[in-house]
Amino acid sequence: MHKLRRVAGVPGDYLVGIIGGKNGDRGVRLTSMVAGLSAHYAVLEAAYTPARISGIPVQAWTQVQKNDLLHCYESTAKALEELKKLITERQVEGIRDLCAYCGIGAPRQFDHYMPKAKFPEFSVHFYNLVPCCGSCNGLKGETWLKHNGARVFINFYIDSLPTSPILELDVQWLVKNGKRVPIASFDLVRPAGFSTAKFALIESHFEKLELLARYRDQAHTEFLALRDAALAREAKTVGVLRKFLDNYLERRVETLGPLNWRIALHRKLEEHTPFLQGCLKP
Ligand SMILES: [Zn+2]
Repeated sequence: MHKLRRVAGVPGDYLVGIIGGKNGDRGVRLTSMVAGLSAHYAVLEAAYTPARISGIPVQAWTQVQKNDLLHCYESTAKALEELKKLITERQVEGIRDLCAYCGIGAPRQFDHYMPKAKFPEFSVHFYNLVPCCGSCNGLKGETWLKHNGARVFINFYIDSLPTSPILELDVQWLVKNGKRVPIASFDLVRPAGFSTAKFALIESHFEKLELLARYRDQAHTEFLALRDAALAREAKTVGVLRKFLDNYLERRVETLGPLNWRIALHRKLEEHTPFLQGCLKP
C-alpha cells in the first residue's frame, strides 16, 4: 500500500484526444457530448477530496450514451494508451511495479475507483484510473459505497495513510527437513494517533480485498527471499547478520514505504534469533 501520484495536465484534454480518434456515428455522438462531459469533469475535479468524493451523483445515461462512454476506455485508442503509460510512469520508481491496493502483485490493469458501470462519464478521467493487479481489480469489481454512504476502498491518490505500521504478525515456527519454516498470520492494528473513522476505511479495504489472507499466502515466498539474502551475507555471528538485515530493512522501507506487508514480515522474522542462527556461515 502506498500513495499514488496523479498525472499532471488537464483531464479533459485526454478525453478530447480519445474522442477525436473515434469514427462514424459513435464519433459524432461523443463529439456532441464533449461540452456536457466537461461539466461532469469539473464536478469530479472540484469534489475530488476524501470528504466529498462519495457525494458525486450518479447520472441517468441512456444505454447508447453509456455504451459510447464505456467504449472510450474499452477501445485501443492511441491517446488512451498514452494516458495509461503516463499514469504508470508518473509513479515512484521502485514501487511502480507493485499494486497500490495490495502491495503484492504487478499493476497490469487499471481499476476505475468510481466504478465505470455507475460512472461511465469518468471511464477515461485519469483521477479515476488506478493502476492495480488483476486480483484486486477482480475483488473490487463494482463495489463503491456502503449502505451508509461510506466508501469501501482507499483512494491512494487522496486518502491519508498512517505513517507507522498497521500490521502485526504472529509467527509459528515449524521444522521441516531440518530447516525452520515460519507460518505467519497477519492482523490489522490501528496506530495510535490515527483516527478510528479514517481507520474504518482501511479496515473495509482490507476486508473486501481479503488482504490478510493474501499476505499469509504470499508470506512463504517472501520468507525464502529474505533467507536467501541472509545466507548470501555469510555472516559468522547473529549480531553481524542482524545489523546487515537492519540496513537491508531500512532500504526496503525507503522503497516500499512503512505500510507494505513485506516490511512487517521482515521485521518479525528478523526478531527470531534461531532463524538467524540457521543462516550463519558454518
Ligand atoms: Zn493488488
